[in-house]
Amino acid sequence: MREIKHWLDGAAVEGTSGRQLPVWDPATGEQQAYVVAATAEETNRAVASALKAFPAWRAASLSRRAEVMFRFRELVDANRKEIAALVSQEHGKTVADAAGELARGLENIEFATGAPHLLKGGYSEQASNGVDVYSIRQPLGVVAGITPFNFPAMVPMWMFANALVCGNTFVLKPSEKDPSVSLLLADLLRQAGLPDGVFNVVQGDREAVETLLSHPDVQALSFVGSTPIAKAVYEAGTRAGKRVQALGGAKNHMVVLPDADVDSAADAAVSAGYGSAGERCMAISVVVAVGAVADPLVAAISERIGRIAVGPASDPAAEMGPLITREHRDKVAGYLAGTAAEIVVDGREAPVSSGPGFFLGASLVDKVSTDEALYTDEIFGPVLSVVRVDSYDEAVKLVNDNEYGNGTAIFTRDGGAARRFQYDVVCGMVGVNVPVPVPVAYYSFGGWKSSLFGDLHMYGPEGIQFYTRSKVVTSRWPDPATSEVDLGFPKVR
Ligand code: NAD
Repeated sequence: MREIKHWLDGAAVEGTSGRQLPVWDPATGEQQAYVVAATAEETNRAVASALKAFPAWRAASLSRRAEVMFRFRELVDANRKEIAALVSQEHGKTVADAAGELARGLENIEFATGAPHLLKGGYSEQASNGVDVYSIRQPLGVVAGITPFNFPAMVPMWMFANALVCGNTFVLKPSEKDPSVSLLLADLLRQAGLPDGVFNVVQGDREAVETLLSHPDVQALSFVGSTPIAKAVYEAGTRAGKRVQALGGAKNHMVVLPDADVDSAADAAVSAGYGSAGERCMAISVVVAVGAVADPLVAAISERIGRIAVGPASDPAAEMGPLITREHRDKVAGYLAGTAAEIVVDGREAPVSSGPGFFLGASLVDKVSTDEALYTDEIFGPVLSVVRVDSYDEAVKLVNDNEYGNGTAIFTRDGGAARRFQYDVVCGMVGVNVPVPVPVAYYSFGGWKSSLFGDLHMYGPEGIQFYTRSKVVTSRWPDPATSEVDLGFPKVR
């Protein structure tokens, strides 16, 4: 069986711990590969390799660093098919979906090529007599990224593109569930001219993460994953004096006002609820139907579910693939077993759900009450809940009272209502007639409340801020003839 290796100091390296973690083929239910979980010693080696590479990489000119990103962008573009196929093979999402993930990841590489412009500081001439003040941004050193299974190509790109171009060196700990693409990206970075040791990959799980969290040479840590682990990583990392941004889970609500176009809203709910089998942190998992729109909306969603083609990524007609593991599929199905609400479409009954792969058909549950687990938990599967409310105010209260605040959307034809929603809602990313409002790469991505621990959002301008620290220089080139001792506090007037 194939071993998916670590990437240390510019080369793929076999694991030594003997602790094998399976990589499944979610479409067939069979194991296709394994990783050998990194020991603390191997993780330390990755950090040592990144630390050794830092001074030279930091000293590389901005143009040189940007040039590597340009070349990497071309290589990723030229290998889109291969990368998307690898994502599909281990994650299970359709090839079109994997290609979409890659395209959004590429945006971040493109953004990073502009770092020479983004890293410009400020300059104030004559802040005092003959004194100039200017700010510069410098890289942090070795930084680490820990990523989830659901976007094995895009989420690492959210992190390493900006981190590298700012002059940091990087250790990636990808999800152990679909780790192959991390090695392909490492090799493409090498081909793009990135010096050995600047980008490293350690395969593994909690043990590798804990080593990174306590390692004195890791300056900052970016994490994306579920909320309890994001919180724990944030707390442990900051306690150890590191800069941490930890993005967590979500429960994204889509509010549909009575004036909305029902067909467009139903199209959006189905696309955003069942795309990638609901395994997206920006997936819609709750439709909040306001007033009389509920009946026609539920009917329109249910009619569309019947037409979703569920199947393996190898089937070009498939629109929705399996879930990531058998345990996860069973957990999602368990929410359907446990609900007291009205199951309009039961995905467990879809023929594909009884095969050996980790498939579960799309489900729609109506009249869900807000105190049941189906509503309160992040399900991360193809289950859409409908909560019926009477008014806009009730809908907003529901979104704002929710523990999570990643994304939300409103569907309406009333510009004033949409403007008010954008103002009122306590959530990091808002869509107006857009169900999955993932910001473009030149804005930053991040939720509020339990969807993000830390101060800075990921990628875009805040990503540049996260991966650099600012230094302010106050400078005078005095004429020796006018120099004198002055024990007073420096004055500017
Ligand atoms: P996860 O939290 O199980 O794992 C994320 C990463 O943490 C993996 O690399 C994993 O190996 C590591 N990990 C697992 N247990 C750990 C532990 N005890 N200590 C330290 N590290 C540990 O998440 P997942 O199942 O891979 O991904 C799905 C989750 O990620 C969902 O909750 C989803 O909402 C979230 N997510 C959030 C965003 C966002 O931008 N907010 C984006 C994508 C996914």
